[in-house]
Amino acid sequence: MTDLPATTAALDIDKTRARYQTERDKRSVSDTRQRQYRDVEQGFAHMLDDPYGSAPPREPLTDEVDVLVVGSGFGGMMVAARLREAGVAKVRIVDVASDVGGTWYWNRYPGAACDVESYIYFPLLEETGYMPVERYSKAAEIRAHTKRIAERYDLYRDALFSTQVKTLDWDGGTARWTVQTDRGDVMSARFVVLTTGPLNRPKLPEIPGIDEFAGHSFHTSRWDYAYTGGSATEPLVGLGDKRVGLIGTGATSVQCVPPLAASAEHLTVFQRTPSSVDARDNSLTDPAWAASLQPGWQQRRMENFTAQFTAALPPHDDVADGWTVLARAVREKLADNPHGLDPGTLLEQADFEKMAQIRERIGRIVEDPATADALKPWFSLYCKRPCFSDLYLQAFNRPNVSLVETAGYGIDRITPGGVIVGDVEYPLDCLIFATGFETSTSYEKRSSMTISGVSGQSLNEKWADGMSTLHGMHTRGFPNLFVIGPAQAGMSPNFPHMLSEQSLHIAHIVADCAAKGIGAIEPTEEAEGNWVETIVRMAEGRRKFIEACTPGYYNNEGRATGAAARGSPFAAGPIEFVKLLRSWREVGDFAGMELDGEHARRTRETAL
Ligand code: NAP
Repeated sequence: MTDLPATTAALDIDKTRARYQTERDKRSVSDTRQRQYRDVEQGFAHMLDDPYGSAPPREPLTDEVDVLVVGSGFGGMMVAARLREAGVAKVRIVDVASDVGGTWYWNRYPGAACDVESYIYFPLLEETGYMPVERYSKAAEIRAHTKRIAERYDLYRDALFSTQVKTLDWDGGTARWTVQTDRGDVMSARFVVLTTGPLNRPKLPEIPGIDEFAGHSFHTSRWDYAYTGGSATEPLVGLGDKRVGLIGTGATSVQCVPPLAASAEHLTVFQRTPSSVDARDNSLTDPAWAASLQPGWQQRRMENFTAQFTAALPPHDDVADGWTVLARAVREKLADNPHGLDPGTLLEQADFEKMAQIRERIGRIVEDPATADALKPWFSLYCKRPCFSDLYLQAFNRPNVSLVETAGYGIDRITPGGVIVGDVEYPLDCLIFATGFETSTSYEKRSSMTISGVSGQSLNEKWADGMSTLHGMHTRGFPNLFVIGPAQAGMSPNFPHMLSEQSLHIAHIVADCAAKGIGAIEPTEEAEGNWVETIVRMAEGRRKFIEACTPGYYNNEGRATGAAARGSPFAAGPIEFVKLLRSWREVGDFAGMELDGEHARRTRETAL
């Protein structure tokens, strides 16, 4: 093995395991206030505003569409594209943003780029005839691609932007959804697809004094270029005389620290848990390689990548980057396995070795030993999102950059003039929150809408004890509604792969309903119950791993039971999930679904 210089033999596994446990416990037992978050609408509603544009005034709509898609990120684009391919005439995407793009519309912070290989990350590359410029593309290129998809599939035609869906009400009498928006629209839709994404609503930490800061502040997903100057790729000239503080050290921070460091008078990074940061090794796309690709290459490459994270380890690793490093290591270990160790044990060994190598690399790059030590991650590689950068660690060698390590606790207080950690106050002109997104609040809250199904029951009421679906997409009592996301569905580190499979599935169902004259579909109680039971039972198998991880949104803040277990992905793995969906479509009998049932006909009135 070439990229893992540390070997298990050279590691004290017991000591490492104990350190993992200590670091996790520090973060799990620290003051619970530190794990609480401030709803942006409480004092920070401006952080939901769109700094990038607004759609022109228009008259409210009262028409009907076949499918209304809420959200125009990758999921929304792919569903709408596949619906078009399936011959569905009237598809309307609605987004609160002023254009398509979803997360790539909002996240324009300096340094933003995809950290999964663009050849598998960009949706519909073969369909649009596009090839990314680089292996890991910058945000602007990704955003431009979402526009390309919208144009290629004529999705702008019926789209509504700068429009927030406020209510979705199922009308059992007409078997339609009534969709109301903040622009006065009262539209009707046969089907609704919710693609609002799991990372759409900025999250702020509940730090005492957070309302008191008198300098300038913003969240990374609404980067304030009017204040910082510059652009995603040009120096932030407005920060030359500013003391900037950045809270958070996740994937966003790893990307925006280098440009901030290059521009700010001084940058102070407040860290609660370090990320694992490995080399990026970006490169321009090789035209000869691109020309050599055969039709169907993107699907094959996506599948090969996703399969690296499953027990059915494929013999070859097409992408072969920092994400798939553990699969490569296990393959090599299996080829030379004198003690006949099982793949699970080999994976654990590979993980320990990889993390040791990442820590060793930090020690080599970061010159100040105390800073280097503080930046070292002590957890399994997939406990938190792995990060990749050739500039992040190096930024801490600059004289104008300092790291404030908060020993897993976080910041003590924000004052009008800065930030307090321990008994030190750090004076700041600007405070940037790289503190992530709401992931564990209710679906209705995160998507800022109320959803009322059969008999007027709300989705919040139905999911009060946790999510309940068939295949992560359908939920009884909410006919003709599809939810797209990883919960109770397949989960790949390459998020667009699963979105693509879910999109194909939804387009198939909508087209099949039209072909067969089916007006309303919803899962049966039995099928949904069985699916939830499967998800929870399988989640139990991952409980040990999740609870051993340092907390974060990746592992439900370390919680693995109750509602958190119900929000887990399908643990048999993403490839098995895709097979299951495919075979469901091939059989074509709508297994587990109630078609035009009496239940779906119930309305608020008939329920009384
Ligand atoms: P994140 O991973 O949730 O990170 C939030 C950061 O804020 C963490 O470091 C967290 O510390 C810290 N934090 C929260 N409360 C704090 C407090 N009270 N005091 C100090 N620190 C606090 O958010 P993100 O970096 O924006 O990334 C979110 C996700 O977006 C990623 O995981 C990824 O899925 C996606 N993303 C993708 C890309 C890409 O594809 N290139 C780039 C950026 C983001 P703890 O770790 O201790 O909780």
